Amino acid sequence: MNLKPTDVSLSVKKFNNEVCGYCLVCGCHCGFIAYMKDKEIVDIYGHPYDKNSVGSLCNKGIALVGETDKLPYRIKNIMIKREKEFIKSDIEEVKSLLSKRPIKKTAVIMGKFSTVEDYKVLKKLTKDIYTTGVFLPFRPSSVPPYEWSNMKIIIALETDPVNSEVMATRWIMDAVEKGAYLVNISSRYNTLSAKASKNFLMNPYQLKNTLKNILEGKDEPWNRLKTFLETTKESLIIVSETLLKSPLRYFVIGFIKHLRTSYGTEYAFIGNITNIKIKELKDINLESHDLVISVDNTLYEFNNLPENQERISFSLFPDFTAINSNAIIPLPLFKERKATPLFNPFAYETKSVKLQNFPYTVEDTISYIFDTSGQEEPTIYKNDIRDSEINIREEDNVRDGDIYVIVGDSPVEIWGHWYPWLHGLEKEQKVYINKKTAEMLGIKENSNFMGIRVEITNTVSDNTIFVSEGFEESQPFKSGVRKGRILNKPGFRIWRLRE
Ligand code: SF4
Repeated sequence: MNLKPTDVSLSVKKFNNEVCGYCLVCGCHCGFIAYMKDKEIVDIYGHPYDKNSVGSLCNKGIALVGETDKLPYRIKNIMIKREKEFIKSDIEEVKSLLSKRPIKKTAVIMGKFSTVEDYKVLKKLTKDIYTTGVFLPFRPSSVPPYEWSNMKIIIALETDPVNSEVMATRWIMDAVEKGAYLVNISSRYNTLSAKASKNFLMNPYQLKNTLKNILEGKDEPWNRLKTFLETTKESLIIVSETLLKSPLRYFVIGFIKHLRTSYGTEYAFIGNITNIKIKELKDINLESHDLVISVDNTLYEFNNLPENQERISFSLFPDFTAINSNAIIPLPLFKERKATPLFNPFAYETKSVKLQNFPYTVEDTISYIFDTSGQEEPTIYKNDIRDSEINIREEDNVRDGDIYVIVGDSPVEIWGHWYPWLHGLEKEQKVYINKKTAEMLGIKENSNFMGIRVEITNTVSDNTIFVSEGFEESQPFKSGVRKGRILNKPGFRIWRLRE
């Protein structure tokens, strides 16, 4: 949909240009109107005619589009590391740095702000191209968020869309206001809990048994839920990226495929999901690569980084990945280029609108340094899950009595802690654990667990330890502990505390 400015301006600020664009921070792709004075954004509003946002933007979108240029930490120059210090440099020096060392095996890791255009060029460079998100070989959603409001049954599995696809949450609330039955199954109470008809706190072992019961129509209330799904056309199941980064991944995909095939249930896998064929971090052998190129902050997934490895980081901020690289190249945002996001849970093909100039693009920089020519077209899967030929296998069993560490979504994403007013929404990383599990592990309130302060709360399930993913060591305000140090399992968000 091509958006045009409204007849009457939404801003009372002084501006001399109105530009309509799309926020591509999450899958909602909310339309907006940016009010510009010369080259500066002076105000931004959600576009009232956009189907997902209907006139609103969330705090993440407003911060990223409106505030990024004003942050003093934004990387704007190429930097090279010399004797542990970064100094201002240029593209020629990055090229010469790499030419001094024969590179045998390159890996690319693509994070949150990667684009399809970046992928096309980087794929020319290496076949070892990975994502921090999840690749699904089918359309990640069967229905757009604005149609969720027409659903009569919604099942939410380990998901809190307000932390990932923010504006999508309103359509769940709308459905509930209209009488929908919302079943919220999660390892912790979340935003949906307040509106849910039924809330169930479950760890991965309990969840797997519950899904089996629904399939088999065994025991109440699962027997009744199965009957609802069989008889209700307007039913939807929403699953988070977190669950796909767990030992239950293939079981859950198989479960959704069964519901879709048998009952026509609509589905949405949300979070950092792509339907472009790409490897995932769970399959990387980082040590086997002598050059790693990161687009965005991707190395926080690792506990240890190999020595004697060249690393180039396309970065917004001097984050963990940037400071552990030998060269940093400024990363443009979607508002500074025309590009398509790599993560696309609703399979929209929205392109960003260039609002402002930025001196670098990943495509130009890579083509210049490596003399790549041409582009590799991606393989994109657009078929429905019921038509997919996925290899559904049990990746790893879940066992009764295991304790699971979940490093999951919370209000502020990892990049968000560079923005003062987003950081203010979640000022400190914490470990959340319930009383029973804490006693079993001998953990006390306010003690330190994995370097993080403990809060004992009955809002998490038994045998679960929840930690928010959005923190790492280099953040400017109150830093935290990166996921790689907590879980030491790149590409996963849920794993056992002990093997
Ligand atoms: S919901 Fe997503 S797309 Fe919409 S404004 Fe927020 S971050 Fe941007």
